Amino acid sequence: MARPPLVGVLALQGDFAAHEAILAALGATASEVRTPADLAGVDALVIPGGESTTMTLGVEREGLAGPIRALAAEKPVLGTCAGLIMLDQKHLGVLDVVAERNAFGRQVRSFEADLDVHGVNGPVRAVFIRAPWVASYGPDVEVLAEVDGHPVAVRQGRVLAVAFHPELTGDTRIHRLLLDA
Ligand code: GLN
Repeated sequence: MARPPLVGVLALQGDFAAHEAILAALGATASEVRTPADLAGVDALVIPGGESTTMTLGVEREGLAGPIRALAAEKPVLGTCAGLIMLDQKHLGVLDVVAERNAFGRQVRSFEADLDVHGVNGPVRAVFIRAPWVASYGPDVEVLAEVDGHPVAVRQGRVLAVAFHPELTGDTRIHRLLLDA
């Protein structure tokens, strides 16, 4: 039998443990990434939700920006919430999007919604916590879901980013998109 996919989860800050649980439920092996060496051999990478300023400092401190960009050129990547921000043009530059941080309002607009996500069968219960949205995007970016006309799930090639937290609801379908990419 083929070995299960090895999925790196950026574990500098944020809710990486919740992603590890979902990946385990899908039969994948999750492996915490804190240094460039931790990226060796991973088949895909998840960048979790958390706080993008703190995460950016950690990425710089550990010299992870170049290695993550190189990985994203070849392998599937999923960013959720702060992870979407990390992938945008102003941060890692992996996705041709500009994210607007705390776009729904700082505290008040933490909310849940049932979202139609292109490529996923049936509504996705989406938890938004001080979430970004995509303010602008380039021609290679496919919008998979919107809230009030603002993109909250996008895909560019094998790189997938969502403004919400699929790792918090026990729903494995968004992570399944990553493993299928
Ligand atoms: N507001 C956070 C940031 O800008 C993201 C919030 C989240 O990941 N839940 O980094």
